[in-house]
Amino acid sequence: MILNPVPWPNGARCAVAFTFDMDADSILHLAHHATADTRVAAMSALRYGPDIAIPRLVNLYREFGMKQTFFLPAWCIERYPEAVETILADGHEIAHHHYLHEHANEKTAEEELYWFQRSTEIIVKATGQRPRGYRAATYKFSRDTFDILVSEGLEYDSSLFGDDVPYILEKDTGSIVELPSHYGLDDWPHYQFSRDFLTMMTIKSTRYALEGFKEEFDAAWEYGGMWLAVWHPFLSGRLARAAAIKELIEYMHDKGKVWFATLEEIAAHARKVQADGSWQPRVHRLPYYEGPIPELGAAEPGLVVP
Ligand SMILES: [Zn+2]
Repeated sequence: MILNPVPWPNGARCAVAFTFDMDADSILHLAHHATADTRVAAMSALRYGPDIAIPRLVNLYREFGMKQTFFLPAWCIERYPEAVETILADGHEIAHHHYLHEHANEKTAEEELYWFQRSTEIIVKATGQRPRGYRAATYKFSRDTFDILVSEGLEYDSSLFGDDVPYILEKDTGSIVELPSHYGLDDWPHYQFSRDFLTMMTIKSTRYALEGFKEEFDAAWEYGGMWLAVWHPFLSGRLARAAAIKELIEYMHDKGKVWFATLEEIAAHARKVQADGSWQPRVHRLPYYEGPIPELGAAEPGLVVP
């Protein structure tokens, strides 16, 4: 099923990473700058992430001896230092997730770089080291993001969906490890209901959500893939859902031969087995396109709605 399964460490059948994007209320200020302070209920739901869910998740990881990766908008690092302390105290990785969760592909290259570098400075101040990894807010990886990641010295990205195992993004100027996931492993479609964001999905039972996450895990285990969840503390950290996470981790442990790792560790492993020749990653040359495809331009009217 996977043509180039990764030789995971210690004979593990798959790699598992529960990554959490601690967006807190950054997304509310971004969506409703002028009125965010009047949306108190929405604010409280988002603050549940750093206040309640982060300590709960870190305790859960400690119970299982797991180190994992958290993506934090830099504004959240400044705004919620206690949550940052809690994450760092247990040795988890903090990775780059923009400043205020702004959408990279709606910025100019200069704007994207400015906020990227400003966020990096905040991460360095809080963690003592530069970020190794990055996830574009709302997966909005831009035409300039790759160049920024390479010039800023990052080792991996985790914003894209192009494989079941790590792969390489490349230009003549350099390369970076891509650690892909997909919407089947995102908790937003299962749990996010908000009138303030107009995300009115039917909330799923944890049974239903867990079933999908578990199927993804079983397939990754069977075929040598990578199970990379993109979750949010304010959604998946709620009580019944956190209990479901615990159940899932127990299921993974019972099954055995699972490598629980941070994304930093998975990226380093991918580079190692690529370098020693025991694994051949697929390579994606960027950009996929220089612009709109010419076949459907002005010379061929009627095919594309302007
Ligand atoms: Zn996010």
